Amino acid sequence: MRTLIANGTIVTADGSYVADVLVDGETIAAIGKLPEGPLGALAGIAVDETIDATGKYVIPGAIDVHTHMELPFGGTSAKDTFESGTRAAAFGGTTTIVDFAVQSRGKSLRDGLDTWHAKAEGNAVVDYGFHMIMSDVNDDTLAEMDTLVAEGVPDFKLFTAYPGVFYSPDDHVFRAMQQTAKNGGLIMMHAENGPAIDVVAARLVADGKTDPYYHGVARYPIFEGEATNRVIRLAEAAGVPVYIVHLSAKDALDAVRGARDRGAPAFAETCPQYLFLSLDDLGNGFEGAKFVCSPPLREKDPHWEELWRGLVKDDLQVVSTDHCPFDFHEQKELGRGDFRKIPNGLPGVEDRVDLLHDGGVIQGRISRERWVDLISTGPAKLFGMYPRKGAIAVGSDADIVVYDPGRMRTISAKTHHMDVDYSCYEGWSVQGASDVVLSRGTVVVRDGAFTGTRGAGRFVKRSAADYARLA
Ligand SMILES: [Zn+2]
Repeated sequence: MRTLIANGTIVTADGSYVADVLVDGETIAAIGKLPEGPLGALAGIAVDETIDATGKYVIPGAIDVHTHMELPFGGTSAKDTFESGTRAAAFGGTTTIVDFAVQSRGKSLRDGLDTWHAKAEGNAVVDYGFHMIMSDVNDDTLAEMDTLVAEGVPDFKLFTAYPGVFYSPDDHVFRAMQQTAKNGGLIMMHAENGPAIDVVAARLVADGKTDPYYHGVARYPIFEGEATNRVIRLAEAAGVPVYIVHLSAKDALDAVRGARDRGAPAFAETCPQYLFLSLDDLGNGFEGAKFVCSPPLREKDPHWEELWRGLVKDDLQVVSTDHCPFDFHEQKELGRGDFRKIPNGLPGVEDRVDLLHDGGVIQGRISRERWVDLISTGPAKLFGMYPRKGAIAVGSDADIVVYDPGRMRTISAKTHHMDVDYSCYEGWSVQGASDVVLSRGTVVVRDGAFTGTRGAGRFVKRSAADYARLA
Protein backbone atom coordinates (compact mmCIF):
# COMPACT_ATOMS: atom_id res chain seq x y z
CA MET A 1 0.00 0.00 0.00
CA ARG A 2 1.44 3.32 -1.10
CA THR A 3 -0.04 6.66 -0.12
CA LEU A 4 1.04 10.09 -1.25
CA ILE A 5 0.28 13.00 1.06
CA ALA A 6 0.57 15.85 -1.37
CA ASN A 7 1.45 19.50 -1.03
CA GLY A 8 1.05 19.88 2.73
CA THR A 9 3.09 22.07 5.03
CA ILE A 10 5.35 19.70 6.93
CA VAL A 11 5.68 21.03 10.46
CA THR A 12 8.46 19.53 12.55
CA ALA A 13 10.11 20.58 15.79
CA ASP A 14 12.92 22.13 13.74
CA GLY A 15 11.08 23.95 10.98
CA SER A 16 8.35 23.96 8.35
CA TYR A 17 8.32 23.52 4.58
CA VAL A 18 5.92 22.51 1.83
CA ALA A 19 6.48 19.02 0.45
CA ASP A 20 4.97 15.71 -0.59
CA VAL A 21 5.31 12.68 1.69
CA LEU A 22 5.33 9.18 0.25
CA VAL A 23 4.22 6.39 2.56
CA ASP A 24 5.09 2.86 1.56
CA GLY A 25 3.70 0.16 3.83
CA GLU A 26 4.18 1.20 7.45
CA THR A 27 6.92 3.78 7.01
CA ILE A 28 7.78 7.03 5.27
CA ALA A 29 9.60 6.15 2.05
CA ALA A 30 10.37 9.57 0.59
CA ILE A 31 9.88 13.28 1.07
CA GLY A 32 9.61 15.22 -2.16
CA LYS A 33 10.85 18.75 -2.03
CA LEU A 34 12.24 20.53 -5.06
CA PRO A 35 13.92 23.93 -5.23
CA GLU A 36 11.44 25.13 -7.84
CA GLY A 37 8.44 24.00 -5.85
CA PRO A 38 7.38 20.84 -4.14
CA LEU A 39 4.06 20.12 -5.78
CA GLY A 40 4.44 17.04 -7.92
CA ALA A 41 7.97 16.37 -6.74
CA LEU A 42 7.03 12.73 -6.42
CA ALA A 43 4.72 12.76 -9.46
CA GLY A 44 4.94 9.69 -11.61
CA ILE A 45 5.30 7.31 -8.69
CA ALA A 46 2.44 4.84 -8.70
CA VAL A 47 0.39 5.12 -5.52
CA ASP A 48 -2.80 3.56 -4.25
CA GLU A 49 -4.11 6.78 -2.82
CA THR A 50 -3.31 10.49 -2.85
CA ILE A 51 -4.36 12.64 0.08
CA ASP A 52 -4.47 16.31 -0.83
CA ALA A 53 -2.97 18.27 2.07
CA THR A 54 -2.93 21.67 0.39
CA GLY A 55 -3.26 24.35 3.03
CA LYS A 56 -2.97 21.80 5.82
CA TYR A 57 -0.20 20.89 8.23
CA VAL A 58 1.42 17.48 7.99
CA ILE A 59 2.74 16.62 11.45
CA PRO A 60 4.13 13.52 13.14
CA GLY A 61 1.40 11.66 15.02
CA ALA A 62 1.10 13.03 18.53
CA ILE A 63 2.40 11.02 21.48
CA ASP A 64 0.73 11.07 24.89
CA VAL A 65 3.16 9.67 27.45
CA HIS A 66 0.78 9.85 30.40
CA THR A 67 -2.46 7.88 30.21
CA HIS A 68 -4.33 5.54 32.54
CA MET A 69 -6.64 3.25 30.59
CA GLU A 70 -8.67 0.88 32.81
CA LEU A 71 -6.79 1.98 35.93
CA PRO A 72 -8.27 0.63 39.17
CA PHE A 73 -8.39 3.61 41.53
CA GLY A 74 -10.46 4.72 44.52
CA GLY A 75 -12.70 1.66 44.51
CA THR A 76 -13.56 1.95 40.82
CA SER A 77 -11.76 1.93 37.46
CA ALA A 78 -10.90 4.55 34.87
CA LYS A 79 -13.56 4.04 32.24
CA ASP A 80 -11.75 4.07 28.93
CA THR A 81 -10.46 0.70 27.82
CA PHE A 82 -7.42 0.41 25.59
CA GLU A 83 -9.84 0.16 22.70
CA SER A 84 -12.05 3.16 23.45
CA GLY A 85 -9.17 5.22 24.81
CA THR A 86 -6.84 4.71 21.87
CA ARG A 87 -9.69 5.29 19.40
CA ALA A 88 -10.44 8.61 21.11
CA ALA A 89 -6.72 9.38 21.03
CA ALA A 90 -6.64 8.74 17.29
CA PHE A 91 -9.57 11.11 16.70
CA GLY A 92 -7.52 13.76 18.44
CA GLY A 93 -4.39 13.14 16.37
CA THR A 94 -2.56 11.01 18.94
CA THR A 95 -1.09 7.85 17.43
CA THR A 96 0.98 6.57 20.35
CA ILE A 97 0.22 6.43 24.05
CA VAL A 98 2.48 5.36 26.89
CA ASP A 99 0.31 4.03 29.69
CA PHE A 100 1.21 3.11 33.25
CA ALA A 101 1.33 -0.56 34.20
CA VAL A 102 0.84 -0.95 37.94
CA GLN A 103 2.62 -3.24 40.35
CA SER A 104 0.14 -4.26 43.03
CA ARG A 105 1.49 -4.29 46.58
CA GLY A 106 3.03 -7.66 47.36
CA LYS A 107 3.18 -8.76 43.73
CA SER A 108 5.99 -8.62 41.19
CA LEU A 109 6.59 -5.98 38.54
CA ARG A 110 6.27 -8.81 36.01
CA ASP A 111 2.78 -9.57 37.25
CA GLY A 112 1.71 -5.97 36.80
CA LEU A 113 3.31 -5.62 33.39
CA ASP A 114 1.73 -8.87 32.14
CA THR A 115 -1.67 -7.66 33.33
CA TRP A 116 -1.34 -4.44 31.36
CA HIS A 117 -0.07 -6.22 28.26
CA ALA A 118 -3.20 -8.38 28.42
CA LYS A 119 -5.45 -5.32 28.64
CA ALA A 120 -3.87 -3.66 25.61
CA GLU A 121 -2.98 -6.47 23.24
CA GLY A 122 -5.68 -7.15 20.68
CA ASN A 123 -7.59 -4.05 21.79
CA ALA A 124 -5.54 -0.92 21.16
CA VAL A 125 -6.15 0.72 17.79
CA VAL A 126 -2.87 2.68 17.78
CA ASP A 127 0.57 1.88 19.18
CA TYR A 128 1.25 1.87 22.89
CA GLY A 129 4.08 1.49 25.35
CA PHE A 130 4.26 1.16 29.11
CA HIS A 131 5.93 2.79 32.07
CA MET A 132 6.00 0.80 35.30
CA ILE A 133 4.47 2.08 38.55
CA MET A 134 6.36 0.66 41.52
CA SER A 135 4.31 0.18 44.68
CA ASP A 136 6.91 -1.89 46.58
CA VAL A 137 10.63 -1.29 46.49
CA ASN A 138 12.56 -4.32 47.75
CA ASP A 139 15.46 -6.52 46.62
CA ASP A 140 13.25 -8.53 44.26
CA THR A 141 11.59 -5.60 42.55
CA LEU A 142 14.90 -3.74 42.28
CA ALA A 143 16.35 -6.70 40.38
CA GLU A 144 13.27 -6.84 38.16
CA MET A 145 13.80 -3.23 37.08
CA ASP A 146 16.85 -4.22 35.03
CA THR A 147 14.82 -6.88 33.19
CA LEU A 148 12.12 -4.39 32.31
CA VAL A 149 14.62 -1.94 30.85
CA ALA A 150 15.80 -4.73 28.55
CA GLU A 151 12.18 -5.46 27.59
CA GLY A 152 11.49 -1.93 26.41
CA VAL A 153 9.95 -0.55 29.59
CA PRO A 154 12.76 1.75 30.74
CA ASP A 155 10.92 4.12 33.06
CA PHE A 156 9.65 3.71 36.60
CA LYS A 157 7.15 5.90 38.37
CA LEU A 158 7.06 6.41 42.11
CA PHE A 159 4.83 8.58 44.26
CA THR A 160 5.42 10.85 47.22
CA ALA A 161 1.61 11.20 47.33
CA TYR A 162 -1.26 8.82 48.18
CA PRO A 163 -0.10 7.33 51.53
CA GLY A 164 -1.37 3.76 51.86
CA VAL A 165 -1.84 3.37 48.10
CA PHE A 166 1.06 4.28 45.80
CA TYR A 167 3.17 6.23 48.31
CA SER A 168 6.86 5.44 48.65
CA PRO A 169 8.95 6.82 51.51
CA ASP A 170 12.21 8.58 50.65
CA ASP A 171 14.41 5.55 51.25
CA HIS A 172 12.40 3.52 48.74
CA VAL A 173 12.51 6.31 46.20
CA PHE A 174 16.24 6.62 46.68
CA ARG A 175 16.89 2.90 46.31
CA ALA A 176 14.90 2.82 43.04
CA MET A 177 16.92 5.81 41.85
CA GLN A 178 20.22 4.10 42.66
CA GLN A 179 19.12 1.02 40.72
CA THR A 180 18.07 3.11 37.73
CA ALA A 181 21.38 4.96 37.80
CA LYS A 182 22.92 1.55 37.04
CA ASN A 183 20.42 0.25 34.48
CA GLY A 184 20.19 3.43 32.41
CA GLY A 185 16.46 4.03 32.83
CA LEU A 186 14.43 7.03 33.93
CA ILE A 187 12.67 7.74 37.23
CA MET A 188 9.29 9.46 36.94
CA MET A 189 7.88 11.11 40.04
CA HIS A 190 4.44 12.16 41.17
CA ALA A 191 5.75 14.86 43.49
CA GLU A 192 3.38 16.14 46.16
CA ASN A 193 3.84 15.77 49.90
CA GLY A 194 1.05 13.23 50.49
CA PRO A 195 1.36 12.92 54.28
CA ALA A 196 1.17 16.71 54.77
CA ILE A 197 -1.79 16.94 52.38
CA ASP A 198 -3.62 14.28 54.39
CA VAL A 199 -3.22 16.35 57.56
CA VAL A 200 -4.80 19.40 55.93
CA ALA A 201 -7.52 17.34 54.23
CA ALA A 202 -8.54 15.64 57.49
CA ARG A 203 -8.83 19.05 59.20
CA LEU A 204 -10.99 20.44 56.39
CA VAL A 205 -13.34 17.46 56.46
CA ALA A 206 -13.58 17.65 60.26
CA ASP A 207 -14.62 21.30 59.83
CA GLY A 208 -17.40 20.26 57.44
CA LYS A 209 -15.56 21.46 54.34
CA THR A 210 -16.28 18.40 52.23
CA ASP A 211 -17.00 19.87 48.77
CA PRO A 212 -14.71 19.15 45.79
CA TYR A 213 -13.35 22.69 46.06
CA TYR A 214 -11.48 21.69 49.23
CA HIS A 215 -9.62 19.01 47.32
CA GLY A 216 -7.90 21.93 45.63
CA VAL A 217 -7.45 23.85 48.86
CA ALA A 218 -5.85 20.94 50.75
CA ARG A 219 -3.11 20.26 48.22
CA TYR A 220 -1.00 23.41 48.65
CA PRO A 221 1.30 24.43 45.80
CA ILE A 222 4.12 24.51 48.34
CA PHE A 223 3.56 20.79 49.01
CA GLU A 224 4.20 20.16 45.32
CA GLY A 225 7.21 22.47 45.33
CA GLU A 226 8.71 20.79 48.38
CA ALA A 227 8.30 17.28 47.03
CA THR A 228 9.58 18.26 43.59
CA ASN A 229 12.71 19.80 45.05
CA ARG A 230 13.21 16.79 47.34
CA VAL A 231 12.98 14.16 44.62
CA ILE A 232 15.20 16.15 42.27
CA ARG A 233 17.82 16.46 45.02
CA LEU A 234 17.57 12.72 45.71
CA ALA A 235 18.00 12.04 41.99
CA GLU A 236 21.07 14.27 41.88
CA ALA A 237 22.50 12.37 44.84
CA ALA A 238 21.83 9.06 43.08
CA GLY A 239 23.15 10.38 39.77
CA VAL A 240 20.01 9.55 37.80
CA PRO A 241 17.75 11.51 35.43
CA VAL A 242 14.34 12.37 36.82
CA TYR A 243 11.07 13.36 35.15
CA ILE A 244 8.35 15.16 37.09
CA VAL A 245 4.89 14.16 35.90
CA HIS A 246 1.90 16.52 35.66
CA LEU A 247 3.66 19.58 37.05
CA SER A 248 0.99 22.11 37.99
CA ALA A 249 2.48 24.86 40.13
CA LYS A 250 5.07 27.63 39.93
CA ASP A 251 6.57 26.27 43.16
CA ALA A 252 7.41 22.98 41.44
CA LEU A 253 8.55 24.65 38.24
CA ASP A 254 11.00 26.76 40.24
CA ALA A 255 12.57 23.54 41.55
CA VAL A 256 12.89 22.12 38.03
CA ARG A 257 14.35 25.39 36.71
CA GLY A 258 16.88 25.48 39.51
CA ALA A 259 17.96 21.93 38.77
CA ARG A 260 18.29 22.54 35.04
CA ASP A 261 20.29 25.70 35.74
CA ARG A 262 22.65 23.53 37.77
CA GLY A 263 22.93 21.20 34.77
CA ALA A 264 21.04 18.33 36.39
CA PRO A 265 19.12 16.01 34.02
CA ALA A 266 15.71 17.03 35.39
CA PHE A 267 12.71 17.02 33.06
CA ALA A 268 9.03 17.76 33.46
CA GLU A 269 5.66 17.72 31.76
CA THR A 270 2.51 19.69 32.33
CA CYS A 271 -1.02 18.97 31.11
CA PRO A 272 -3.74 21.03 29.38
CA GLN A 273 -5.85 21.15 32.55
CA TYR A 274 -3.12 23.14 34.32
CA LEU A 275 -2.85 25.58 31.41
CA PHE A 276 -6.55 26.16 30.77
CA LEU A 277 -8.51 25.32 33.95
CA SER A 278 -8.24 26.69 37.48
CA LEU A 279 -9.27 26.30 41.09
CA ASP A 280 -12.46 28.23 40.21
CA ASP A 281 -13.63 25.20 38.20
CA LEU A 282 -13.61 23.16 41.41
CA GLY A 283 -16.28 25.45 42.89
CA ASN A 284 -19.98 25.25 42.01
CA GLY A 285 -20.88 22.63 44.63
CA PHE A 286 -20.48 18.99 43.72
CA GLU A 287 -20.17 19.81 39.99
CA GLY A 288 -16.57 20.57 40.85
CA ALA A 289 -15.97 16.82 41.19
CA LYS A 290 -15.63 16.75 37.41
CA PHE A 291 -12.38 18.65 37.85
CA VAL A 292 -10.83 16.65 40.70
CA CYS A 293 -7.36 15.41 39.82
CA SER A 294 -3.99 15.46 41.58
CA PRO A 295 -2.12 17.72 41.68
CA PRO A 296 -5.27 19.87 41.71
CA LEU A 297 -6.16 22.72 39.40
CA ARG A 298 -4.37 25.85 40.63
CA GLU A 299 -5.24 29.51 40.85
CA LYS A 300 -4.87 31.10 37.46
CA ASP A 301 -2.40 33.66 38.78
CA PRO A 302 0.57 33.12 38.83
CA HIS A 303 0.57 29.51 37.70
CA TRP A 304 -0.79 29.73 34.14
CA GLU A 305 1.70 32.29 32.90
CA GLU A 306 4.57 30.55 34.68
CA LEU A 307 3.74 27.23 33.03
CA TRP A 308 3.56 28.84 29.58
CA ARG A 309 6.91 30.44 30.21
CA GLY A 310 8.26 27.05 31.23
CA LEU A 311 7.03 25.58 27.93
CA VAL A 312 8.65 28.38 25.92
CA LYS A 313 11.96 28.23 27.81
CA ASP A 314 12.16 24.41 27.74
CA ASP A 315 12.02 23.97 31.50
CA LEU A 316 8.94 21.92 30.57
CA GLN A 317 9.59 19.58 27.65
CA VAL A 318 6.30 17.73 27.25
CA VAL A 319 2.55 18.30 27.39
CA SER A 320 0.72 15.07 28.19
CA THR A 321 -2.79 14.51 29.53
CA ASP A 322 -2.82 12.24 32.60
CA HIS A 323 -5.98 10.91 30.92
CA CYS A 324 -7.87 9.03 33.65
CA PRO A 325 -11.62 9.34 33.03
CA PHE A 326 -14.35 8.66 35.55
CA ASP A 327 -18.03 9.28 34.86
CA PHE A 328 -19.53 12.12 36.84
CA HIS A 329 -22.54 9.92 37.57
CA GLU A 330 -21.85 6.93 39.81
CA GLN A 331 -18.05 7.25 39.75
CA LYS A 332 -17.24 10.85 40.80
CA GLU A 333 -20.36 10.62 42.98
CA LEU A 334 -18.53 8.17 45.26
CA GLY A 335 -17.09 11.31 46.85
CA ARG A 336 -20.33 13.12 47.68
CA GLY A 337 -19.92 14.36 51.24
CA ASP A 338 -16.13 13.75 51.35
CA PHE A 339 -13.85 15.09 48.64
CA ARG A 340 -11.19 12.56 49.64
CA LYS A 341 -13.35 9.80 48.15
CA ILE A 342 -13.76 11.37 44.70
CA PRO A 343 -11.80 9.30 42.16
CA ASN A 344 -8.89 11.46 40.99
CA GLY A 345 -8.62 11.99 37.27
CA LEU A 346 -9.86 13.80 34.17
CA PRO A 347 -10.55 12.81 30.59
CA GLY A 348 -8.30 14.49 28.04
CA VAL A 349 -6.57 12.18 25.58
CA GLU A 350 -8.76 13.35 22.67
CA ASP A 351 -8.43 17.10 23.16
CA ARG A 352 -4.77 17.76 23.99
CA VAL A 353 -3.51 18.45 20.46
CA ASP A 354 -6.30 20.90 19.61
CA LEU A 355 -6.28 22.68 22.98
CA LEU A 356 -2.56 23.29 22.70
CA HIS A 357 -2.86 24.39 19.10
CA ASP A 358 -5.64 26.83 19.92
CA GLY A 359 -4.37 28.10 23.26
CA GLY A 360 -0.70 27.93 22.28
CA VAL A 361 -0.19 28.55 18.57
CA ILE A 362 -3.35 30.54 17.74
CA GLN A 363 -3.05 32.65 20.88
CA GLY A 364 0.56 33.41 20.00
CA ARG A 365 2.20 31.82 23.03
CA ILE A 366 4.25 29.21 21.17
CA SER A 367 5.28 28.58 17.58
CA ARG A 368 3.74 25.76 15.57
CA GLU A 369 7.16 24.05 15.64
CA ARG A 370 7.24 24.18 19.45
CA TRP A 371 3.68 22.79 19.45
CA VAL A 372 4.88 19.74 17.48
CA ASP A 373 7.87 19.44 19.80
CA LEU A 374 5.73 19.44 22.95
CA ILE A 375 3.08 16.99 21.72
CA SER A 376 5.22 14.60 19.66
CA THR A 377 8.94 15.03 19.09
CA GLY A 378 9.91 15.93 22.66
CA PRO A 379 8.12 12.94 24.19
CA ALA A 380 9.51 10.65 21.46
CA LYS A 381 13.06 11.71 22.32
CA LEU A 382 12.71 11.55 26.10
CA PHE A 383 10.95 8.21 26.03
CA GLY A 384 13.20 6.35 23.64
CA MET A 385 11.07 6.30 20.47
CA TYR A 386 12.83 8.85 18.28
CA PRO A 387 13.13 8.93 15.26
CA ARG A 388 10.87 5.92 14.79
CA LYS A 389 8.08 8.07 16.26
CA GLY A 390 7.83 11.84 16.55
CA ALA A 391 9.39 12.62 13.17
CA ILE A 392 8.43 13.20 9.56
CA ALA A 393 11.55 11.61 8.11
CA VAL A 394 12.45 8.85 5.70
CA GLY A 395 12.36 5.54 7.57
CA SER A 396 10.15 6.78 10.40
CA ASP A 397 6.87 5.06 11.16
CA ALA A 398 4.15 6.60 9.02
CA ASP A 399 2.25 7.95 12.03
CA ILE A 400 1.05 11.12 10.36
CA VAL A 401 -1.67 13.68 10.97
CA VAL A 402 -3.04 15.93 8.25
CA TYR A 403 -4.07 18.83 10.43
CA ASP A 404 -6.36 21.70 9.48
CA PRO A 405 -5.11 24.73 11.43
CA GLY A 406 -8.13 26.81 10.43
CA ARG A 407 -11.06 24.54 11.18
CA MET A 408 -13.19 25.44 14.18
CA ARG A 409 -14.36 22.65 16.44
CA THR A 410 -16.63 22.63 19.48
CA ILE A 411 -15.62 20.31 22.30
CA SER A 412 -18.50 18.42 23.88
CA ALA A 413 -19.25 15.17 25.67
CA LYS A 414 -22.05 14.70 23.12
CA THR A 415 -19.56 14.35 20.30
CA HIS A 416 -16.31 13.17 21.86
CA HIS A 417 -15.19 9.56 21.59
CA MET A 418 -13.87 9.06 25.10
CA ASP A 419 -16.07 6.74 27.16
CA VAL A 420 -17.01 9.28 29.82
CA ASP A 421 -20.17 11.26 30.47
CA TYR A 422 -18.76 14.79 30.62
CA SER A 423 -16.08 17.07 29.22
CA CYS A 424 -13.98 19.53 31.22
CA TYR A 425 -14.13 21.82 28.18
CA GLU A 426 -17.85 21.49 27.39
CA GLY A 427 -18.89 24.00 24.73
CA TRP A 428 -15.39 25.39 24.16
CA SER A 429 -14.66 26.41 20.62
CA VAL A 430 -11.11 25.66 19.48
CA GLN A 431 -9.31 26.40 16.24
CA GLY A 432 -7.52 23.48 14.62
CA ALA A 433 -8.52 19.86 14.12
CA SER A 434 -7.20 16.59 12.69
CA ASP A 435 -8.55 15.75 9.22
CA VAL A 436 -6.77 12.50 8.42
CA VAL A 437 -4.81 10.36 10.86
CA LEU A 438 -2.48 7.56 9.81
CA SER A 439 -1.08 4.92 12.14
CA ARG A 440 1.88 3.09 10.58
CA GLY A 441 0.60 3.90 7.10
CA THR A 442 -3.04 2.98 7.66
CA VAL A 443 -5.70 5.68 7.72
CA VAL A 444 -7.43 5.26 11.09
CA VAL A 445 -9.49 8.48 11.12
CA ARG A 446 -10.75 10.39 8.14
CA ASP A 447 -13.09 13.40 8.25
CA GLY A 448 -14.57 12.45 11.60
CA ALA A 449 -15.04 8.74 10.93
CA PHE A 450 -13.05 5.89 12.43
CA THR A 451 -11.51 3.63 9.80
CA GLY A 452 -9.01 1.71 11.96
CA THR A 453 -9.11 -1.74 13.46
CA ARG A 454 -9.32 -2.92 17.02
CA GLY A 455 -6.10 -4.69 17.90
CA ALA A 456 -4.03 -3.06 15.15
CA GLY A 457 -2.01 -1.14 17.74
CA ARG A 458 1.32 -2.72 18.68
CA PHE A 459 3.47 -2.62 21.76
CA VAL A 460 6.36 -0.19 21.26
CA LYS A 461 9.54 -1.57 22.74
CA ARG A 462 11.39 1.54 23.85
CA SER A 463 15.02 2.10 24.63
CA ALA A 464 16.44 4.23 27.39
CA ALA A 465 17.17 7.68 25.98
CA ASP A 466 20.42 9.60 26.13
CA TYR A 467 19.19 11.81 28.95
CA ALA A 468 22.49 13.63 29.45
CA ARG A 469 22.36 14.86 25.85
CA LEU A 470 18.70 15.86 26.17
CA ALA A 471 19.35 17.84 29.35
ZN1 LIG B 1 -1.20 9.92 36.22
